[in-house]
Amino acid sequence: MNAYWGDTESFGMAHYKKLSANWADWDLTPPNNSLSEADKFKLDHGYDESKSLDKLSAADLKKAAEFRGGEYLDSKKPDDVYAPSHWKCAFGHEFDMSVNTVLKGGHWCPECDPMPWNYDAIAKVNPFFAQVWYADHGKNEDLVQGEEIYRDYDEYKK
Ligand SMILES: [Zn+2]
Repeated sequence: MNAYWGDTESFGMAHYKKLSANWADWDLTPPNNSLSEADKFKLDHGYDESKSLDKLSAADLKKAAEFRGGEYLDSKKPDDVYAPSHWKCAFGHEFDMSVNTVLKGGHWCPECDPMPWNYDAIAKVNPFFAQVWYADHGKNEDLVQGEEIYRDYDEYKK
C-alpha cells in the first residue's frame, strides 16, 4: 500500500515522529505578506508573460510546450488564442486545446489528466508541473493512483 503523501521518511509517519513536540523549537514568525516576498514563489509558466498571448510567436509556443514536456505541433501561431491549437504531451498523446487554456488556464493533456493519476511520471518529464508537484512530493516517488484511493468510490460515482 502506498500513501498519497509520499514516502514515510520524507512526508509520512516516520517524518512526523521526528518533529519536535516543544513549541520553542518551531519558528512561529508570521509570514511576510509583502509582494516582493511573494515574488520568490511565482511559478515559471515557460513563456514571456510580459507579452499578451496574441503576441506570442510559434517559437514562444514551442518553448512553452517543451516546458510542459511536450510539443507545439502547429507550424505557426494561431490567429485566435481561444481557438484550438495542436499539441503533444511527453507521453505522445496529441490533443487540441487553445493557447489561452494551456497558458492561462494551466491545462494540459486531457489523456494524462484523468485517473489513474500518474503524476510522479508526469513531474519527471514536465518541468512546469514539477514546480508544484515537488512542493510536497519526493522525487523518488513512483505512484500511479486509481479509484482504489477513494473509500466508497462506487458511491462517489453515482
Ligand atoms: Zn498525455
